[in-house]
Amino acid sequence: MSPTKRVAVTTGASSGIGEAIARELVSEGYRVVLLGRRLERIASLAEELGETALAIQADVTDRNSIVAAAERVQEELGGADILINNAGVMLTAPFASDQRSEHRQMVETNLLGAMTVTEVFLNQLRAKKGDLVNISSVAGRVAPAGFAAYSATKWGINGWSEALRVELQPDIRVMVIEPGAVATELSDHITHDDSRKAAQDYRDNVAMPPQDIAEVVAFALGRPKRITLNEILVRPTVQAM
Ligand code: NDP
Repeated sequence: MSPTKRVAVTTGASSGIGEAIARELVSEGYRVVLLGRRLERIASLAEELGETALAIQADVTDRNSIVAAAERVQEELGGADILINNAGVMLTAPFASDQRSEHRQMVETNLLGAMTVTEVFLNQLRAKKGDLVNISSVAGRVAPAGFAAYSATKWGINGWSEALRVELQPDIRVMVIEPGAVATELSDHITHDDSRKAAQDYRDNVAMPPQDIAEVVAFALGRPKRITLNEILVRPTVQAM
């Protein structure tokens, strides 16, 4: 890998938006580190992307795996210039006890996971005067029925990011991207039947391709250091809510 290219670490790189971001950043000349639990997915993506991509299996709810990943990034690539907190799960359902383990999983992945990865990589970002990109959601601004726990995690990402912006800038830029519906496998993991069908139907009829979000992320990262696109809300034009 060339030592001069900026290093972008992306969580949730095994599918959807994270995969698209990795592809886009490689095409823009970055080195990328692909984090995810499904090793075969990130390994085959890294192989396809070539020598500018490195796959490391890591679970954002397992701090030890993140620390090990950060050590490899430091040793093999000299540290991260960019961290993209993208890993997430959306297990929508009417709010009820049946879903309590899914509430916990969403908070532990979407919110605490992002916090954990950030605190682990923070020294690397400080050393590089780097960039932090948090993938939130339109569900961090509007909260339809069934989205209570998921929206709580994305509202949490927005509030946490706002405080980080004040703390970390100007040394580390903090950017929040809030996508509307994106055509990914996110909704396939919903266990509540009616909620899954509704989300899949929305995906099939309303959603934009993940490449649209990847291009927005690359654009934001490519702005000169004197400005920061702190918050970007991107809906498909046909999406009302
Ligand atoms: P995908 O399901 O395609 O991707 C989710 C990614 O998160 C996967 O790569 C998955 O990798 C990873 N992930 C999940 N749990 C963990 C974990 N514990 N540790 C590490 N990685 C994990 O969905 P999207 O691409 O759509 O989602 C990406 C982000 O975009 C999420 O934060 C989501 O909330 C957000 N978003 C999505 C929208 C949409 O409509 N699709 C709209 C707005 C925001 P693996 O299973 O290999 O670990």
